[in-house]
Formats: sequence, structure tokens, C-alpha cells
Amino acid sequence: MNTAAQAGRTQTTVIRGGTIWTGGATPRLHHQADLVIEDGRVAAIEPHYRGHADIELDAQDCLVIPGLINAHVHPGTSPRSRGLAEDVSLPKGAAYYHMTMPVQMYSPQVISPDDLAIITEWDCLAMLAGGATTIVAEQFGSADAWVSLVQRLGFRCDLGTCYPSTYAAIGYFDKEQGRVVLGDPGDVGAGLVAALELHDRLHGSCDGRLNVHLSPHGPDTVPEEVLRATKRAAQERNIHIHLHMGQHKLERETVAKRSGLSSVAYLDSIGFLGPDVMATHCTYLDEGDYAILARTGTNCVHIGFRKAKEAITSPFVELLDSGINVALATDSYSHDLLLEMKFAAMLGKIRAGAGGRITAEQVLNCATWGAAKALGRPDLGHLEPGAQGDAVIVSMTSPFNAPVFDPIKSLVYYSTAADIKATVVAGRPVVQNGRVLGADMEAVRAHTTACCRRLWTGAAANGALPQGVFYPDPCGC
Ligand SMILES: [Zn+2]
Repeated sequence: MNTAAQAGRTQTTVIRGGTIWTGGATPRLHHQADLVIEDGRVAAIEPHYRGHADIELDAQDCLVIPGLINAHVHPGTSPRSRGLAEDVSLPKGAAYYHMTMPVQMYSPQVISPDDLAIITEWDCLAMLAGGATTIVAEQFGSADAWVSLVQRLGFRCDLGTCYPSTYAAIGYFDKEQGRVVLGDPGDVGAGLVAALELHDRLHGSCDGRLNVHLSPHGPDTVPEEVLRATKRAAQERNIHIHLHMGQHKLERETVAKRSGLSSVAYLDSIGFLGPDVMATHCTYLDEGDYAILARTGTNCVHIGFRKAKEAITSPFVELLDSGINVALATDSYSHDLLLEMKFAAMLGKIRAGAGGRITAEQVLNCATWGAAKALGRPDLGHLEPGAQGDAVIVSMTSPFNAPVFDPIKSLVYYSTAADIKATVVAGRPVVQNGRVLGADMEAVRAHTTACCRRLWTGAAANGALPQGVFYPDPCGC
């Protein structure tokens, strides 16, 4: 407990002298203003705050925005997967992860649960240094390591444990068969039961920073009775649901074979969709699907960078044009949310064939207010009085983003995660000058590097790398 709370008085954080973009339903810009956070909540935005301050952060020449929400990640997978298949042409209908999955599946042979906890921490450090103050995590396997990070590092998390719970069950490319194979899903319904137990145990813990949702993997990998049971449990207990939808062509084909419908139409036909659902990717959709998503109030999560690696764009423009609420996420591999916003805007312009489409403010809105709405959290994603005191302070003094004509355009088009000076959650600093407070970043990096070298060497020797990909001698970095 902090000193102010121990003394029974208000804990005050002041972010001084920045340009503050409030976000929310009607975003406003305040120039050279102080953001005052009291007991974790935004109390005021004013020109010169003169009251007491327990924590002061200088935001001169900075833009202050609401804490960013990374609306879909898989903690622990990225460090093991980056670089394995970026320049590989995918087999028909497959996704990038199908190619890297054999390495993840080999991983337990050389990576212990303790090692994986440290790799997961390294992954988390990237998400936090990448601007996220809230992370929507879709965990495979035990969530213990992740939960302890939420406790220790001070960020917010909306956590789901995926079912089916094994990497093999969501599909991997089998080189011998020359196609994507789905492994044994086991008892998927048991995954729902375990997820509900996790919800009962952890929802609202860590001073309310940790919440738990239900995470059926997708309409192709989860049996219909488990999807229906998930929806029933979610409605009875007011829990929200997160799933992959329209992720790859194989998903669409599998669902069509089962039901004769698109993934969206199928989920609608079983009463699954609604405002309590966040559907990630939404890449392979059609006009009829947009109408269903709009009618049901389903939230979509857009991930541009990962899809660009697969040589495709998702219908971000079409979703927004249809009036659908959209959040942004990095998924796996890169966790720089400023980069993700850039991709969302740029790929949106290319998809629309018009430079005037998809503005900087639209993508920033998706990464803040849109994501908060998708989570059912009107207290997140904006900096108006009463909102949670989560903010990102971005320096606007680099050769790339200064001088500033329009701060939101400078943020989205010309800034990167390297410009993030600090982030705060409930008024408490989580990241400062590129360092995640509460973590020994050098030690975590060294351990993760040693583990991944061991993994990649073993994976190469055991034929788990994608066809034509070789692990070069460790480059010393
Ligand atoms: Zn995913």
C-alpha cells in the first residue's frame, strides 16, 4: 500500500504541461494542461494545478493520450516465433501461425514452465513498452505466469484461457502431409469449465486490474454444443466472450462444410453474436456478414501488421462504414501499438483507394474508446473526469515527429514506441523512458535469448522449422 493511502488521504498524480487528447465520445485537445489523477481516477484537466501531488510527471513537448488497449495477444508466443516464417509463402488457405506452430509444439521438450514464465514476461514487456496499459490476453495453457505479471507490473488485463487449449488443436502445417492438420482437441467442454473456475477465482482481482472473460478459440475449432454453453454461461454470469472469427480461409471452409454458412452467419444462427462478443481478425467476411455484425452489435478486433505479413488486408474500412465498433490489437510477433495504428491507417487507405479515408483520429479512437466499448468498460479509453487514470505520454521532440503541426497526425504517422516517455495505470507509472518499472529487463532478455536459441537449434535439428527456413548461427544479439 502506498504512503498516501496508508495515511488515509488522497493519492494524487499530476502529468504536467502536455497537450492532452481526451478521447471518448467527443474528443478534445487541451494545450499545455495538467492532467490530475486522484485515487486512480481522472479528477481534472486544468492549466496550472497548484494542489498537492504525490507523483509528478513532466509532459512538456509531449502528447498525452488515454492508455492504449491491446485488444488481442497470446502471451509468450511472440519471442519464440518472430523471424521463423515472415518471408514464407503460405499454403492455400493457411495463416502465418500454422507455419510456426510446429516450433511451439516442440517447445516443451527444451523449455521448462519456469523458462516459459520468463519468456512470457519478455513478451509482456514489449506489450507495455509498446503503449498498452490494458492487455486483452488469450492464453494457451496455464495462466499462472501471466497472472503474477499483472500483479507485479501494475498493468490492466482482461484474461481468457483458450479452449481447445493446445497449440496442435488449432492447426499446424504438417510438412509430410503437405497441408494444415488439426490435432486432437481433447475435451473442449472441460476448457469452458476451467475458464469459469478461473473467472470465479480471479475476476476483479489485483485491485480490479485483472478481469477474466471466456475464450473459445473459434467457430471451426470449438464444437457447437460448447459454443452454445459458452454463450449461456456468459449471459447468465455477465461475462464477455472473445474468439477468433474470419481468421483464415480454412476456418471459413470448415464452418461452411459443417453448416453451409459463413463463420459469421453460422455464429448468428446459433445465437452466439452480440455486444458481449469481441471477434478477432474478421478478415474473410462478405457483405452479408457486415450486416449481421452491425445488427447484432458484435465488436471486431482489427490486426493489420500480422495480416500484411500474410499478403492480405482485412476489411477495416468496410467494418467502420457498416457502423461496427472496432478495436485494434497486435496479436503476436510485434507489440508496438503505434506501429499497429500506422498500419491500420495506411492499409485502410490502400483498401479504400483513397488517401482521405481512415484518419489518424479514427485509428486512435479504435485503440482507446472503441476497445473500451468492446470490453464493456466505459471507464477506460478516455481522459475525462471519472475515467480510470490510465495514460500514455508521447514525446514529440524526435527528428521524426517534430515540429508538430497536428499532434494526432504526428502520433499516428510519425511516432513509434521509442517516443513513449511514460505510461501510467490508475495514476501509477508502469513504463518510464523505455523501461518497464518492476522488471529486470536485462536479465529477462538474457534468459529469453538463451531459451529461444536452444529452442530454435532443437527445432531445426528435429525438422520443426518451415520448409526452406534455416536457423543461421546465432548472430550474437
Ligand atoms: Zn489470436
